[in-house]
Amino acid sequence: MANAPVQRMSQLMAKTLRDDPADAEVLSHKLLVRAGYVRRTAAGIWTWLPLGKKVLANVERIVREEMDAIGAQEVLLPALLPREPYEATGRWDEYGAELFRLQDRKGGDYLLGPTHEEIFTLLVKDQASSYKDLPVILYQIQTKFRDEARPRAGILRGREFLMKDSYSFDLEDEGLAQSYALHRAAYQKIFERLGLDYRIVAATAGAMGGSKSEEFLAPAEAGEDTFADCPNCDFAANTEAVAYDLKPVDGSAVPAAEDIPTPGTPTIETLAASLGVPASATLKNLLVKVAGEIVAVGVPGDREVDMGKVEAHFAPAAVELVTEADFAARPDLVRGYVGPQGLDKVTYIADPRVAPGTAWITGANKADTHAKNVVAGRDFEVDAYVDVVVVQEGDPCPRCGTGLRLDRAIEIGHIFQLGRKYADALKLDVLGREGKPVRVTMGSYGVGVSRAVAALAEQTADDKGLCWPAEVAPADVHVVAAGKALQTELALDVSEKLSAAGLRVLVDDRAGVSPGVKFTDSELIGVPRILVAGRRAAEGIVELKDRRTGEREELTVEEAVTRLTA
Ligand code: ATP
Ligand code: MG
Repeated sequence: MANAPVQRMSQLMAKTLRDDPADAEVLSHKLLVRAGYVRRTAAGIWTWLPLGKKVLANVERIVREEMDAIGAQEVLLPALLPREPYEATGRWDEYGAELFRLQDRKGGDYLLGPTHEEIFTLLVKDQASSYKDLPVILYQIQTKFRDEARPRAGILRGREFLMKDSYSFDLEDEGLAQSYALHRAAYQKIFERLGLDYRIVAATAGAMGGSKSEEFLAPAEAGEDTFADCPNCDFAANTEAVAYDLKPVDGSAVPAAEDIPTPGTPTIETLAASLGVPASATLKNLLVKVAGEIVAVGVPGDREVDMGKVEAHFAPAAVELVTEADFAARPDLVRGYVGPQGLDKVTYIADPRVAPGTAWITGANKADTHAKNVVAGRDFEVDAYVDVVVVQEGDPCPRCGTGLRLDRAIEIGHIFQLGRKYADALKLDVLGREGKPVRVTMGSYGVGVSRAVAALAEQTADDKGLCWPAEVAPADVHVVAAGKALQTELALDVSEKLSAAGLRVLVDDRAGVSPGVKFTDSELIGVPRILVAGRRAAEGIVELKDRRTGEREELTVEEAVTRLTA
């Protein structure tokens, strides 16, 4: 392969900035803009400048190499997609406001692909006819579009972003498990090579459907995901996926339920205070509406309901909060005094903490009245147990009981065993060994390629700026010419030598920029090794600096070339 030409900063289409962009909330956003890697084009829509494009291409290359290594075949599907396949799987509607929908000149409906399960399923339906064509893994590295509600975190959450998405097609469940395992191992290699600190955690499938799913999370303050981590065993899960077994208790000794007058106690706080009991002894019942029907959600009074979990449980049906009009239409639902006992035509879902046999103080369905000794399974039935509470630091590990730790992280990858959801919807069969059609089982697997760049910036930056791991850095070495003609001459000379030896070189040959600014910029830009042609340039001596440790040493040009190419 031809050596990359030396990149001169005097000609680079990028300016470093002294100040953080005014709208930047997260570190990666600030630094990537300030160091001249990206520019904002519109909310959640970004332009990659030369340095940024190089880092992005390095991430792409690593992802591509590891996908190819598991036998995946690269393809490129369109991003502009017809409505019909998404209509067939229900996602045209289910995707809601996140989907970019548009029309062509004839009024036909189209979308900008947020993820491509449907189109890959149809591709395989078109191309594969028998069991001999499977298993197969296909992937693409492509721009995705999602109209994110809050595209505030810079490159971390774009409305247009780069994703590697792959899809596996197998005949049997064992085959799917194997394809999933191949991806899991490939992802471990990818994130190790990228130099990301990451965890693999259990996840929920969400709108994607299917069964087993895990996320690759990069711990970082800026992350929008929270995961629970057990300090004692190897349990780790996205808080959305922390689930407990139902543990019924013996409630037979609890006296009969009885109403108690509790005037002026419509909230858990007022109730607990007036009765002198902890909030955890009370049962809170949140009313929501799902597909027009009232649903009550029961959780202990000291816990919050995680609406995301309620939504996930009922997806794709939408969950709404009840309104004044709903209360007006249902006089039996007494606001602030709802209890699950004697509720009519209301589906009741409850957290597993409201296990059969547990006794509660809860609303008596009458104004200013509560009921005590209300026992689950005796005085009321739970239609479905669903983990709906917001997980808190210190909640017991579902596996070993130790208090969980909560950490913030960035989701950089997600792998799913989809099963036959998409194959069923789009009727993907191949001829099996016995000559009969067999329905195909699928997996889908994503890496946030552009997000990984920002995640790396988040994890590796220090107070001076970006600080890239070698394999993704935009250059191998950043040569700085302190300023005088002689220094610039030496800097360009050593740059050519390093380039000839196969290194990717960025050289700061800008005229009229002070050495101080150049040093600061070299630290902001974050190439791992910085070589300065400065004070002793006349003697042919340069200074080599490690960007991360700040360690410096003086070397002759020849020594520097040998050292850097070792
Ligand atoms: P999130 O929960 O962060 O919205 P997701 O569950 O919607 O992510 P997937 O549909 O699994 O994400 O997409 C695969 C990968 O694409 C994610 O793991 C993430 O790394 C990346 N990704 C998703 N949404 C965005 C976005 N808006 N901007 C950049 N990368 C994204
Ligand atoms: Mg999303």
